[in-house]
Amino acid sequence: MPAFRPPRLARQGAGGGRVMHWCVEETSLSQCAHPRWSYEEALKKVNAASAAFAIAQKAMNHIIFVFVLLSLLAGCSPTRGNEYAVHLDVAFTAAETQAFLDGMSDWESNTRARFHPEIGSCPGEHDGQICAMVSGPLGNAPDGGGVMWASTRDANLHDGGTIRVDVDLFRSGRLTGDQFRQMAAHELGHALGLPHLAPFTLMAAANAYSSPVVTLDDVYEYNNLRAR
Ligand SMILES: [Zn+2]
Repeated sequence: MPAFRPPRLARQGAGGGRVMHWCVEETSLSQCAHPRWSYEEALKKVNAASAAFAIAQKAMNHIIFVFVLLSLLAGCSPTRGNEYAVHLDVAFTAAETQAFLDGMSDWESNTRARFHPEIGSCPGEHDGQICAMVSGPLGNAPDGGGVMWASTRDANLHDGGTIRVDVDLFRSGRLTGDQFRQMAAHELGHALGLPHLAPFTLMAAANAYSSPVVTLDDVYEYNNLRAR
């Protein structure tokens, strides 16, 4: 909304000993010549317009505030639970599937999270559901910090998420089995709603300085998300 610019008051017909009028520039030039359009009246109109604008702006701010609040409550911050159905892509190898199971038991032994894993396709995206799928290359990390191993989407819209893993990075030997396990536990953390946390947690943004297992800070964040 543009800022309110009060019309300037200007003297009209100055000089020559004629009667002077005050008028409101730019808004009502036709009324300038009107003898009853006094300075006081003009000022009153300006003030009234200014007050109306302030009220409209205040109302608009309230509407925007309520809208933002509602969208936060409705869309961006789902209520987090503890029970999750986990669908693991049939295309994962036995070792890769086991790495996800290990990641789940790490979260289960440290938090109230409970997983119900099964091997099968992902039936859409909804609350209480996590899917882990084999993916092609995911491109570079958004911060330019290297190639992305995996990504989790949907975690801000639903209580759960869809994990995609670039398995070729692991199968080609560029990354180790231990790194796969760490990735699986980390992505499960995102699906549980956790953002990136400080260095030396499981949820640290890069593996170079992250913990391979769930830490106290990760547990704190898990509980904090569910205490709201
Ligand atoms: Zn991450």
